Amino acid sequence: MLETPHSLLGGAVGAATGNPWLAAPAGVASHVAGDLLPHWNPEFPFKSKKLYAFVIADFIVAEALVVAFWILFPDRPEIAIGAFFGTLPDIILGIRYTFKVRWLRGYQHLHGVLHWEAPLVYGLWPQLLVSILSVWYLVELAN
Ligand SMILES: [Zn+2]
Repeated sequence: MLETPHSLLGGAVGAATGNPWLAAPAGVASHVAGDLLPHWNPEFPFKSKKLYAFVIADFIVAEALVVAFWILFPDRPEIAIGAFFGTLPDIILGIRYTFKVRWLRGYQHLHGVLHWEAPLVYGLWPQLLVSILSVWYLVELAN
């Protein structure tokens, strides 16, 4: 999935655990679950500068959400922790791609296996739905 839905889903799942220690593995698990949904995301190496800019912007939004969760829910650190760990698997992947880290090749393969990619037209809806449900859950918490 794109990074922003990973961050939102991780935050919601982290909140559901109610525990900052459980939020970390739950966030990672939410990443795997999210990637198993049919989804569209840009394939590395990205084909255009626009796509690079899009991926970087998506990453910045996702990590800004982590900070926002930290600020918005000061007594619920599990939300920010879940969101961060929801994005961590792709941060590791980014390190693998950027620095061509050899010993992360197996990790890259595993991440690729646990993926259901769909064309853009179909592949945005599941992510949108996941994002809406996650935001809805978090807004309910805040009220
Ligand atoms: Zn991923």
